Formats: sequence, C-alpha cells, structure tokens
Amino acid sequence: MTIVFVGNSCVGIEKTACYHHQESSTLSVMSAFAKKIITWQKREGRHDLPWQNTRDPYRIWLSEVMLQQTQVAAVVPYYERFLGRFPDIASLAAASLDDVMPFWAGLGYYARARNLHRGAQQIMADHNGIFPKDFDAIHALSGIGRSTAAAISAFAFGERRAILDGNVKRVFARHFCVEGDVKSKSVEDQLWLLAEVNLPRTEIESYTQGLMDLGATLCKRSQPSCLLCPVHKSCIALEQGRVEMLPAKGNVREMPHRQTRMLVIISSGEVLLERRPPTGIWGGLWSLPELPVEADIFKTLHSRYGLTGRTTREMVRVEHGFTHFSLSIFPVEITPTKILLRAMEPGLIWLNLDDALNAAIPAPVKRILKSLNSSTHI
Ligand code: SF4
Repeated sequence: MTIVFVGNSCVGIEKTACYHHQESSTLSVMSAFAKKIITWQKREGRHDLPWQNTRDPYRIWLSEVMLQQTQVAAVVPYYERFLGRFPDIASLAAASLDDVMPFWAGLGYYARARNLHRGAQQIMADHNGIFPKDFDAIHALSGIGRSTAAAISAFAFGERRAILDGNVKRVFARHFCVEGDVKSKSVEDQLWLLAEVNLPRTEIESYTQGLMDLGATLCKRSQPSCLLCPVHKSCIALEQGRVEMLPAKGNVREMPHRQTRMLVIISSGEVLLERRPPTGIWGGLWSLPELPVEADIFKTLHSRYGLTGRTTREMVRVEHGFTHFSLSIFPVEITPTKILLRAMEPGLIWLNLDDALNAAIPAPVKRILKSLNSSTHI
C-alpha cells in the first residue's frame, strides 16, 4: 500500500504490486505513528476505566458493546449494574431477555442487548461456556463486527488485530488525509489498510487503547486538541488546515422527522405499559401505548384497551433523536372512567410508578413518567 502525495498533499492511497513486501518491511520496524501513540497512551491515556486491567473476555466484550455509539461517562454505571446482575457468560445466557432488558433501558440501541444475550447463549451452546480465543469464532458471535472482535482479541488475548471504530476512522482520515465519503466502501477499505499497516508488532494493548483514547479525548469531531496530540507533527490534515473538513461526509440528507402520541393512562395508582415488538425501535422494551397524533384517542382507548376515559391534561412535548430520524412525542394523561376489561393480555401490564420507572423502558418514556406529579396522580 502506498500513500500518494503530490508535493505535500495527500491525494489518496493505492495498493501496489509489492504490497506484501511493503507490509513486511513496514511491520519489521514499528511505525513512527504507532510508537508515538503507544508512548502517549502510557503517559497520558486512560488506565482506570472499569473494564481495563482485566483479561476477562466477557467483561471486555460487554464494555466494547456498551461503548458502541455511547460515551464512557454514560456507560460506566450501566456496565457496573449489568455486571452486578450478570457477572459471567453463564448467568447472562441463563437469564430471559425480559430479565436483561431493564439493565439496558435508557442506554439506547437495544439490539446490542439482544445480540449480547444471544451471543452468551451461543457461547454456552457452541463453546462449552468458554469465550472463544479464535478471532473468526469471536467475529461469528451475534452482533460482533470486525472492529469489536479485534478489540476483544487485543485486550483479552494480546492478539495483533486492527480496530476501526468511528473515532479511529476519524483519527486515520485526518492524520493520513484520506479523502472521500467515510461511509463509502472504497474509503473504508483505505482506512482498514492504514489500520493494518500501522499495527505494531508488540504492545498491541497500549496501541489499541491509545487509538481509542486519542479519538475520544483529543481528536474529537469538533474542536480537536491538536496541540496536545502525540502525532500532530505528522498529521497531514493539520498541516493543510483541513482538520474540520475530515473525515468527509457524503451528501448529508435532511433528517426525517416523525411525531407520535403517547397515552399516560393512570388507574388506581398504576400506569398502563405496552410491550414493543421484538425488533425495530425500542424492540422488546415496555413503553406507553402509542398512536398517531391525528388518531381518535378515545376510540383507540376503547377498541384496543377496553377503556373509556377522559383526558386529564396534555403533557409537555418530548423530543428524542435517533440516528436516522427525530421524534416529537405528544404525551397525554388519561384517567379512565370505566374499565371494561382490565388489560392483562400478554404485552400489556399495569405497574405502579416506581416499578414502571425500573422496568425496561426507553429514556424518553422515563422522562414522561418522571414528569408526572407523583403526589397528585399516582
Ligand atoms: S493533529 Fe489534530 S487532527 Fe491530527 S490526529 Fe491529532 S488531534 Fe487529530
């Protein structure tokens, strides 16, 4: 692989016929880039996160999954609570998904929890309950992509594998000035090549952690701290004044916007929750009954839940962002005047407010329930 320059400008990356020769010669000597990352990580990087200083692949796996799309500060309390309830693969595999979801509620991207649970069951069934060491076997587990498998391999088994999560893509795209839409296959291929070529032969844990630390703490999406960066002298984007332009995004489409109505139905001190379908947004979580904003609330109340009632009050609108759309929630509080059937069918449950708040509910539903005046209404 060759990084192609015209003058001082990086114009791209090309594979050369002597790629294998170059790879071995590059790897025989640790790249200056890797050396600086390792030295910096040891001196300035993060060393005391709850999932560090262990070789337990289960703990590392859990942290890597929780950290996908989620910042460290948000993950720490979830990580500790989850491990308190499911301390090992066997306990997670033996639990029902209903037991698992409350420990993920509020963290978002719920498919991660379902995959983790399925992965634990795969390990019990296919690997005698022992987390596999083989990279391909790790990669084959439910929900584990190439970068996550590499991070687990590096941290748990010291294996020399390249990672390329979102933060690391940003570091490579800027430092090596990789042009083009970072979501495109060709750019991703270039970034993977850079990740492979720069892998050091030794100290893989410090290098991997260093890349993660650099992306999370200095080479941030906006206002990166380049002066503190261990590789700023060789950073091409910095030299060319193009840091804020990289990594390039393709055509940014306008985020679609959706609206929904949520019913906060309260009876005898309990609130009615409904389980979401197993896949899709908030898959498998408990939520408030939902209907289109233009739908007739009372017809729905009667036909779907066997209730008649009156609107007590319109509650404050709640805004929530997903990766691919934004959602306005219009909650309305309902007091049933007549309960024709106490809704106990599967998928419906009445819970008191404390239990509802501790159930596996999405973050915006928790905000709506918390906003209820408990002394007046429940
Ligand atoms: S110098 Fe700045 S842009 Fe370049 S890798 Fe370091 S933090 Fe990122």
